Amino acid sequence: MNAIFRTFVVAAALILGLPAVAADEVNVYSSRKEELIKPLLDRFTAQTGIAVNLVTGKEDALLQRLKSEGANSPADLLVTTDAGNLYRAKAAGVTQPLVSDALSTAIPAVFRDPEGHWVGLTMRARPILYVKGKVDPATLSTYEALAGPDFKGRICVRSSDNIYNQSLVASLIAANGEAATETWARGLVANLARPPKGGDRDQIKAAAAGECDIAIANTYYLAGMLTGKDPADRTAAESVAVFWPNQDGRGTHVNVSGAALTAAAKHKNAAVQLVEFLASPESQQWYAQENGEYPVRDGVAVSATLTAWGPFKADSLNLARLGELNAPAVKLMDRAGWK
Ligand code: FE
Repeated sequence: MNAIFRTFVVAAALILGLPAVAADEVNVYSSRKEELIKPLLDRFTAQTGIAVNLVTGKEDALLQRLKSEGANSPADLLVTTDAGNLYRAKAAGVTQPLVSDALSTAIPAVFRDPEGHWVGLTMRARPILYVKGKVDPATLSTYEALAGPDFKGRICVRSSDNIYNQSLVASLIAANGEAATETWARGLVANLARPPKGGDRDQIKAAAAGECDIAIANTYYLAGMLTGKDPADRTAAESVAVFWPNQDGRGTHVNVSGAALTAAAKHKNAAVQLVEFLASPESQQWYAQENGEYPVRDGVAVSATLTAWGPFKADSLNLARLGELNAPAVKLMDRAGWK
């Protein structure tokens, strides 16, 4: 409902003594932290008069909730991280195509579900991080090479139950096939400095503390440590550098946080309008920079921290493939002994 029409309806309701028609609203289930999205939702409400009701929670809990609520779900949009999670929502049947020419134009096809059920709204990269002075970046090249004998006992990475690693392995399956990727995973596991534990930040801290020379982590964790308030985190982060792997080939593995339109959406137009707002150049700048991520559309400035890491070639695999290959990736990591 556009603003003029809404004003008319409300005015007509007042004149006729009818109960005023509720203004448009959008209900959002989000696994993003409130501070990483709420300011933009408030801006959207201020611009459009459309209220946004935000429910935040963990990825799995929100998906479970959407499934059990079914057609009665109040949610119009699911906002979550990782194409693997967006794929799971689609596979669970709780999403529907989100039709918008503006989004198809603004967001590259690789960051959108081919059937339109979800769109990426921020991009994150998962490169190789190395300890400055201990690793000559000239000895680094690809994810594949990390399974070689040169890296024995030198690598830190989190566990295989984490979707970021599952998506990384899915990208390797897409590039090299399942058999070669299983051999790679066995080699990587053999090169680990310690059994996987902790999150991405913990891998960076372990590298800084001398437990390993190389860590695999999403860039926004490094950005968060570099710009955060904890001096120990900052010192740890400053001791590592970013290496963009696979630049002579398919490019560095990337993923997105994104939004899916729910199958139960009762405020479809307003929901699409909100996603278009989140994809607008102004929102993209805030949304990506606030969490040290990259915009999904071209021509939007990245933060100074990200600029310092330089440009890189991102893998052009359609991210929906990461979801399709999630199950084989999980099984493969298990067979390879990736804890
Ligand atoms: Fe994360």
